Formats: sequence, C-alpha cells, structure tokens
Amino acid sequence: MANTSTASKDRTKILIIYTGGTIGMIENPKTGALEPFDFDHLMDNVPKIKMLDYKIDNFQFDVPIDSSAMNPKHWSEIANVIHDNYDNYDGFVVLHGTDTMAYTASALSFMLENLRKPVVITGSQLPIGEVRTDGEENLITAVQVAAATDVDGSPMVQEVAILFENYLWRGNRSTKHSSDNFNAFKSSNYPPLAKIGLEISYKKDMMWRCPNQEPLKLHCNFDTNVMYMDLFPGITETVVRHLLSTPGLKGVVMKTFGAGNGPTDTWFLEAVKEAVDRGVVIVNVSQCDNGMVNPMLYEAGCGLYQAGVISGHDLTSEAAITKLMYLFGLGLTPGLVKLEMERPLSGEMN
Ligand code: ASP
Repeated sequence: MANTSTASKDRTKILIIYTGGTIGMIENPKTGALEPFDFDHLMDNVPKIKMLDYKIDNFQFDVPIDSSAMNPKHWSEIANVIHDNYDNYDGFVVLHGTDTMAYTASALSFMLENLRKPVVITGSQLPIGEVRTDGEENLITAVQVAAATDVDGSPMVQEVAILFENYLWRGNRSTKHSSDNFNAFKSSNYPPLAKIGLEISYKKDMMWRCPNQEPLKLHCNFDTNVMYMDLFPGITETVVRHLLSTPGLKGVVMKTFGAGNGPTDTWFLEAVKEAVDRGVVIVNVSQCDNGMVNPMLYEAGCGLYQAGVISGHDLTSEAAITKLMYLFGLGLTPGLVKLEMERPLSGEMN
C-alpha cells in the first residue's frame, strides 16, 4: 500500500516509488562507503518539492537497495505497485540507482503492456544530502514531467522514461554511459523525449503512444536462462563452446563487431549453428552504441545470419537481454521468441 497524504480531488496525483540508489544514500561513518537510506531522509532534503501543488504519495522498498542488487523480483515489485495504483495516480516517479536503471526501464516497458501514463525513472550521481547534489533537481523535474499534460489534458508522457540532468530519454533506448558525469545517460539511436533547460521542451512527435485502447496489462514472469556473449578478436573455441552449452540456456545476446560481424572461422560458425539448432535464440546486437546491425553488409555478418542468429537491429543490449527474458517468461517457443524479438513491442527498436 502506498503511504498517502491528505487527499484533494482535483490536484494532480503523483506516486513516488523509492527503491534505493545513490540519490537516497548516506555515508557509513565507519567504512566511508555510501549505503541506501530511507525515504523520509530523502524528502527532508528536498523541501522545495512542497512548492509543487501536487498530491504526492510514496511507496518505498522495505529495504532500499543499490541498483546493482536489482533482479526481476524487484522489477515485479515496482510494476505491481504501478499496476495496483494505476487508476489512483496521474503519474509515477521511480527513484532508482543509476547502475542498472536502463535494465529496469527496459523491463518495465515490456511488463506494463498498454501503458498510457508516465513512469519517470530518475536517481542521481551525488546523494541528495550533499551540497552539490544533482538529486534534488532530478527529483523535482521528474515529478513535473510525471504531472505534465498535453493541451487536451492527456498525459504528455505515456511510457517508461529516464529523466537525468538535461534530458528525458525513452527508457528502453537508454544506456548509462558515465559514472561521474551529471548527464549519466544517453540514447544513441533515439532522440531525447524532452530537453530540460530553463523550460522543459517536449518533443511530442518522439513520444510513444499505445496503438490500441486495451487496459493496462501486467506481465511479471522473466526467464533468466539468458546471457551476454561479448565477442573479441582471439576468443577461443573452448570458451565459445563452453558458454553456448551452459545447461538450461535459452537465449543469448551476442555483442558483435560493427554492423553485426563476427569471426568467420568454421569452428565458430559451427558452434553457433549447433546452439541455434538446439533451440537457443541468439540475437545479434552491435558493440557500437550508435547505428544498427546489418548482417548482410559483410561476409563476416552473413555467416552469423546463415547460422541462424537473428538481428537485434538497433536495440540496446539492456533492452535486448530484458526482452529475451520477458519473451521466454511468457512461455513462448524459441520460434515465437525470434519473431517477437524482431518487432518493436514498446518503441525499443526502429
Ligand atoms: N551504485 C549506485 C546504484 O546503482 C549508483 C547510483 O545510484 O548512481 O544504486
């Protein structure tokens, strides 16, 4: 149950879901390391939020966590809170650590089918109690974005988005690219949904709109029998065969060179084909963060294509791995997973 403040009928209602992350951390006096702290501490450090005329309630994880400890159970908890409170709020703000924020954003975008309200995820690089914190501005702006409406009164943002410093990004197109820059996120294959400056300038034609009128549908099952396989010049047959024969393995996001290329050695292509023939779904995603996989451009990509590796087009690796887990979690056969991997579900690929 969300903790509620005094109700008011026509004020915009925002639910803040606090999961942990640097934004709410304080320094352990003994070790000097940053540790998650509770929501009240966080809000005490943002007195300005009271200047917004919204009804703001909160839900917090029993134990706030560093986002490196996130797993599909935590995604499910966040998605359930949004689902259970969907009709009672105009928008949702998720406070989350930056390390795995792009994974959570991608996962939520698949879990919340037919989403038509804003789910704005934010955090910070410096804890909110620190003088130079970026957390206060990120939190306040995230709440404003979650409350924003279009001229017809409909929510401006109707998708899962990441708000960080100067930009609002589509969640399933985002990647954490810096561990110390305040602009910690980027989206190399999709423009920002909004630029945050003196004003919040929304790019309406970039926003996702649900293509049907169906109600929100929640999907919480993820099959975690997946892995990344990052190629590098010199990768050995032993390593490749060992990884691809991992017991229970169902899906692989293969991070390839350039436009989707890999080694042309016969042993490599044979090992890949054997895994595909056993029913393992292998998705080709480029190690370059900008551009897309075009496996037919070079012979080195054609080999993977002929071995049965499917194209991940311009997916981020975070979106590719969460989408694989989500599709296998739906109980789909490898054939159907392949079909769904190649079509956009919630704006994650062109
Ligand atoms: N390790 C932290 C986390 O992901 C980093 C951050 O929040 O920026 O929870």
